[in-house]
Amino acid sequence: MMFGAANLLRSDTQLNQRSYYEASVQRPPPQAPLQEALQADVVVIGAGFAGLSAALDLAQKGLDVVVLEADRVGSGASGRNGGQAIVGFASGQGPFEAQLGAGDAQRAWDLSVQAVDLLQERMREHQIDGDWVSGYLYVADGSKKVPALRAEAEFLQSQGIAVDWAEGDDVQRHIRSPRYRASVRESRSGHLHPLKYALGLARAAQAAGVRLFEGSAVTALDRGAVVCAHTAQGQVRARFAVLAGNCLLPVHGPAVAPEIAPRIMPVGTYMVATPPLEPDLCERLIPSNAAVCDNNFVLDYFRFSADHRMLFGGRVSYTTMTPPGLSALMQRRMAQVFPDLADVPVAFTWGGFVDISMNRAPDFGRLGSNVYYLQGFSGHGVALTGMAGRLVAEAITAQDGRFDVFARLKHHRFPGGPLLRTPTLALGMLWHRMRDVLF
Ligand SMILES: Cc1cc2nc3c(=O)[nH]c(=O)nc-3n(C[C@H](O)[C@H](O)[C@H](O)COP(=O)(O)OP(=O)(O)OC[C@H]3O[C@@H](n4cnc5c(N)ncnc54)[C@H](O)[C@@H]3O)c2cc1C
Repeated sequence: MMFGAANLLRSDTQLNQRSYYEASVQRPPPQAPLQEALQADVVVIGAGFAGLSAALDLAQKGLDVVVLEADRVGSGASGRNGGQAIVGFASGQGPFEAQLGAGDAQRAWDLSVQAVDLLQERMREHQIDGDWVSGYLYVADGSKKVPALRAEAEFLQSQGIAVDWAEGDDVQRHIRSPRYRASVRESRSGHLHPLKYALGLARAAQAAGVRLFEGSAVTALDRGAVVCAHTAQGQVRARFAVLAGNCLLPVHGPAVAPEIAPRIMPVGTYMVATPPLEPDLCERLIPSNAAVCDNNFVLDYFRFSADHRMLFGGRVSYTTMTPPGLSALMQRRMAQVFPDLADVPVAFTWGGFVDISMNRAPDFGRLGSNVYYLQGFSGHGVALTGMAGRLVAEAITAQDGRFDVFARLKHHRFPGGPLLRTPTLALGMLWHRMRDVLF
């Protein structure tokens, strides 16, 4: 098994080489790296959804913001994901209810729903053409998984979200697959082209006055009443810092915030895209064009792109190693779900790392009084990152206590140092995987 920062970076870079999303956008020319000493109100580390959303809101509130990105805008998880913008949390409500009580657990849930609305609002306000489609289908692939899906449906209904429940043959109304025993459809969640959205956020942030530097990894952060972020050729002094570097933050800058690094674990997840399919076939397979996700621990997630490709995600790796024969593995998995796609080739294969926290609840907080961090989205960050950015902006401008709903959640470190925590997690996850197969 392969572990360690250098391997993580190598795997992560390789996994973005054959991304359908990169192939389907026209990126603007690269932003020059930082080569000077700047002053700002806020320095944001990382130009994914979380960092860009925070930067945009802060600039709209009149603050002077600099964003430092190690690679390119949206080159991390934000530009490569399944594009599924979903209400709720990867953890479910459990950690919120257990730790915060019913009232704040409800506030957290409400914020997760508002996060999906906010994403659409930002696309409208800033004219971001992100191929948004409303509609989400949760599916269960075995009779033992049906009660959990039903409980999910009942919970959604209790929150005022209309659902369409189907079981047995009725599931075929929503998805033409022999695999699923039950499904629940709702229309609050949906899907989008994540890289178009990330590039649109960057454009909007720059239009609002944000100074953005690519190729500018922050290697060190001096803390104090004024923080100073150092890159290879420059530095930014600011009153506040927002750490939104996800799994690669400790890789590019091991000394930036070593106290939060052990609370998340990079877990690889992978996607393939087919060539464009006949629109009639797409409509037959998923008539509503919803995004689909099963309720296994290691889940399959898939949807059609605007140009009628099947984008199929799944598999995981708890080491930093990419599974061998990935395209063929994913193609077989896709064909199990949709036998009609058995002979359809894979045109693109890519992947990335998700920042899993121990309890799978998001991990937001403050280091001292002026360094904020956003991590632990646990594979559920497409919508929630945007809200996280807003909450940080509110906290920095002392407008609201909504950030503290999340900051009060306690998070545990993964056991072991950087070398041991991945194998420990791998063992734990193996158990959950066996449960998916057995029950
Ligand atoms: C294959 C895949 C599929 C997924 N599917 C879904 C899905 O369907 N739905 C969903 O909700 N979530 C999904 N996710 C998760 C979701 O993509 C993430 O939760 C979200 O994009 C995280 O955004 P972020 O801004 O926190 O991190 P990122 O987008 O990873 O951005 C962090 C940025 O910080 C930069 N950086 C790191 N360290 C430094 C440093 N020291 N200095 C400067 N820059 C630095 C990185 O280069 C990177 O660009 C998926 C993730 C993957 C990988």
